[in-house]
Amino acid sequence: MAPSTKYIFITGGVTSSLGKGIIAASLAKLLQARGFNVAIQKFDPYLNIDPGTLNPYEHGECYVTEDGAETDLDLGHYERFLNTPTSQLNNVTTGRIYNNVITKERKGEYLGKTVQVIPHITDEIKRNFFKLGEDGKYDVIITEIGGCVGDIESLPFIEAVRQAKWDIGSNNILVIHLTLIPYLAAAKELKTKPTQHSVKQLLEAGIQPDILVCRSEHHLPLDVKKKLALFCNVELNCVIEAMDADTIYDVPLLMKKEKLDERVLSKLKLSSKSNTDLEQWKDFLGRLKNPTQEVNIGLVGKYVSLPDAYKSIIESFIHGGASSECKVHLRLISSEELHPESINKKLQDLDGILVAPGFGERGLEGKIETVKFARENNIPFFGICLGMQVAVIEFARNVIGLEKANSTEMDPNTSHPVIDLMEEQKNIVQMGGTMRLGSYPCEMKKGSKAAQAYGKTKTMERHRHRYEFNNKYLEQFQEHGMIPSGINPDTGLVEIIELKNHPWFVGTQFHPEYKSTVLNPHPLFVKFIQATIENKKNK
Ligand code: GLN
Repeated sequence: MAPSTKYIFITGGVTSSLGKGIIAASLAKLLQARGFNVAIQKFDPYLNIDPGTLNPYEHGECYVTEDGAETDLDLGHYERFLNTPTSQLNNVTTGRIYNNVITKERKGEYLGKTVQVIPHITDEIKRNFFKLGEDGKYDVIITEIGGCVGDIESLPFIEAVRQAKWDIGSNNILVIHLTLIPYLAAAKELKTKPTQHSVKQLLEAGIQPDILVCRSEHHLPLDVKKKLALFCNVELNCVIEAMDADTIYDVPLLMKKEKLDERVLSKLKLSSKSNTDLEQWKDFLGRLKNPTQEVNIGLVGKYVSLPDAYKSIIESFIHGGASSECKVHLRLISSEELHPESINKKLQDLDGILVAPGFGERGLEGKIETVKFARENNIPFFGICLGMQVAVIEFARNVIGLEKANSTEMDPNTSHPVIDLMEEQKNIVQMGGTMRLGSYPCEMKKGSKAAQAYGKTKTMERHRHRYEFNNKYLEQFQEHGMIPSGINPDTGLVEIIELKNHPWFVGTQFHPEYKSTVLNPHPLFVKFIQATIENKKNK
């Protein structure tokens, strides 16, 4: 650990889903605006080595970093807010910690000692807390501890935070506890008791929180703040109100108004390196909140019952829409409900359609019908990963006439495997962390829709897939008007397809949504939205 680096830990109490990730990202944004180099990392208490093997229905999207780590969706917020990339180091799970410890034990590295939760697991946690700070690149590292205080699972993390206070000295570490102040409508009262209990649990574990951030549907009156300060043993001006916001992108400004950043700086004995500059952020919010036009876009996928499964795509539409002062009304549509007889009715009022990434056969036919509908009716279409693969299958079946063309993921015995397992994937038996992951180059054809969107012909984009376009069919596709407009220059893998005779029909094997941020909306989302605006005008 670099001696000058300051550490902030964020714990959560009372209930999950209070938005620790957003508070962490907002605080980091405010510190970044004051000239500090800030990183955020998340420690998750589950036993999976990473969330790559978790069901999107249960855990939401798996976010992929530049270096190909499969991580928690909160890392997406960190990147979208800070505009800086994260990596495997920024997301550690209990599973990874135990895996490291057990691997060391098998190598005999503990020299005959009994391996225990304290000190071996907690030491390994602390080693990981401080890894990001080792090269001294960061002034402040914010660590979000997943789960709630009091959960059996998070105990070793909480214990490691307690020990860290001793290791790095109390001027260099700060604990922020995010909690809920519920409003009882019948009593017309904000209740502090759940927070008192959760702070007591932290105290029992040896941790005195320095700052309370209190999520609430109502303003906290002074007497409520005083009560919280008294019972939770924090200074009155360190009881910070966090009211529900219209958009997550309001939270940095709300936290600034509440002086969260000032309290943090004074506790850590830091002074601003530069003046607060949030002009670009405010400009984005201005455009987001004052749209001059609106469009309806359908997101067709199979995980729509949990919108978090498409978190980065949803946020990309917010960034891309704001850049054109356009309100995107995104309708999540289950592909399993789309059938040839009813599809017209369900999709006809959409100005654009996106077919989402995904895995497995369920809902595939509905996606194919969706692509057909968009292609035949000249509706702007954007296919991402599986969405691009489905566009290829649809074209093979309905334009080239390759009956029953398919991906070997869905039908291993298809007579026309237009999408096939990548060669390097063929001998893989272990599922976790073995897809084609992370950033790879893509070269675009001059004049293509893709190159026009990017304003250049070379880019790097992130991936998460096992199957690819089968280049044996490439000529046939080109003859019929589907252009491979983006190619990996090293392997020839088709990264982008588009259609010649269509206003805007683009499919990408990569995931552009992982790289869209508030300050850099992704060009493909920007152009797709602009195409939907055009389409609406021409209707
Ligand atoms: N299931 C497809 C593959 O593995 C697509 C993956 C995705 O959409 N992320 O290639």
